[in-house]
Amino acid sequence: MKTTDVAVVGGGLGGLAVAALLARGGRRVVLFEKARHLGGRAHTTHHEGYHFNLGPHALYLAGAAARVLGRLGLELKGRGPRGEGGFALRGGRLHTLPSGLVSLLTTDLLSTMGKLEFARVMANLMRVDASTLKGMSVEEWLRANVSREEVREPVAMLFRVATYCADLALMGADAAVAQQQAALAQGVRYLDGGWVELVRGLSAIADAAGVERVLSARVEEVTRDEAGGRPRVRGVRLADGTEWAAEAVVLAAGPQDVAALLPGDEVAAGWAAKAVPVKAASLEVGLSRLPRPGALTAFGVDRPWYASVHSAWARVAPEGGALVHVAKYLGERDAVASEPELEDVLELLQPGWRQHVVTRRFLPGLTVMHALPTKAEGLQGRPRPVVEHLQGLGLVGDWVGPEGMLVDASISSAEAVARAWLGSREGARAA
Ligand SMILES: Cc1cc2nc3c(=O)[nH]c(=O)nc-3n(C[C@H](O)[C@H](O)[C@H](O)COP(=O)(O)OP(=O)(O)OC[C@H]3O[C@@H](n4cnc5c(N)ncnc54)[C@H](O)[C@@H]3O)c2cc1C
Repeated sequence: MKTTDVAVVGGGLGGLAVAALLARGGRRVVLFEKARHLGGRAHTTHHEGYHFNLGPHALYLAGAAARVLGRLGLELKGRGPRGEGGFALRGGRLHTLPSGLVSLLTTDLLSTMGKLEFARVMANLMRVDASTLKGMSVEEWLRANVSREEVREPVAMLFRVATYCADLALMGADAAVAQQQAALAQGVRYLDGGWVELVRGLSAIADAAGVERVLSARVEEVTRDEAGGRPRVRGVRLADGTEWAAEAVVLAAGPQDVAALLPGDEVAAGWAAKAVPVKAASLEVGLSRLPRPGALTAFGVDRPWYASVHSAWARVAPEGGALVHVAKYLGERDAVASEPELEDVLELLQPGWRQHVVTRRFLPGLTVMHALPTKAEGLQGRPRPVVEHLQGLGLVGDWVGPEGMLVDASISSAEAVARAWLGSREGARAA
């Protein structure tokens, strides 16, 4: 049997981050990834010179991922939109997106009274202590804080864009308001070369710290025994029968994977049973040129749509070409999306785009986030990164821990596991 200090299951950004942090803190770490490549949902593929992420990906600059990756020395190259070329899509028409004073004054999306209320609501939203909103849904927050329907819709649109979630009656206002505040405070960045650059950068840091990685290695079970009547981890068993003994195991995968890796564990089965995944449909299009160079983003006000020319801010297309991500946030009401539906959204932003297509891809049902922070549970109700009922088990993912959504939750939970398991001296060296 092979041995290590820590076995990390999952080679997405969360698994890579926890592996790098623990190895920099002096632990022997082996990382297992079932796919042939690292990256998980942060994978980017190359199509005729266009860099396609798995759907539109933006890094929130005020979030945990930017904080931890920056501390690890990772350069995050690229830029993000600040409202320029932005539109709100309502009733099949484009309206100027109210993203600043001038655009708010000039847009025909809102009446004069609506503009005043929109400005007031957005200012209040930035001031509220999000942690006091536990137990309230986003929809309830909107009803309590916005009196006009014409204002409620665009504010709801901003929540959808920041969280990727269309189920505003289910999503907790604590998580959504914190996410919106982060998005508005420092904005987002689209990354040069796509998110695979984060994967490359983080795996180089993990390699330098001595992390051993094993690809095409599906872990089948976390082996366990008992010490003093308390269950604890013993290591992992791979699908090919290989066993690794480890003092600690980090599961950096989704709740269904985690439950399958821990057969008979009722707590893990409970995490899987209550997880409501956040899904999206995505159309990626590489164009030889943009028909309307000044029209760069469109967010649906009355429908859960998103379109953005990521190549306007990041190097993700060949010189002169353009890469556009179009998406639909799927929820209970809008559970499916068809390719023609997303094509129609792109036609509104970039009329005549079909004549310039070089390459394209439609993905109808991506899992954006493994579990929505719900109204009932909120951020505080998510499983803790350091598991209590099974000694030596850590959890990392976008469904874990009390901080952030999306990749910020994955990286924040990675940081929390490393902090808890490393002494303060080793922890300081790791970060
Ligand atoms: C369409 C879309 C848009 C998104 N947009 C954004 C965005 O704008 N901003 C943002 O912050 N986030 C965004 N995200 C979310 C972000 O991609 C994820 O939160 C992040 O990549 C999750 O990383 P992770 O390591 O936690 O999980 P994953 O990337 O899912 O990695 C888990 C890994 O575990 C492996 N694995 C699972 N089970 C096993 C096993 N038994 N043995 C071995 N390996 C196993 C899997 O193969 C996978 O590689 C988006 C996601 C999607 C799909």
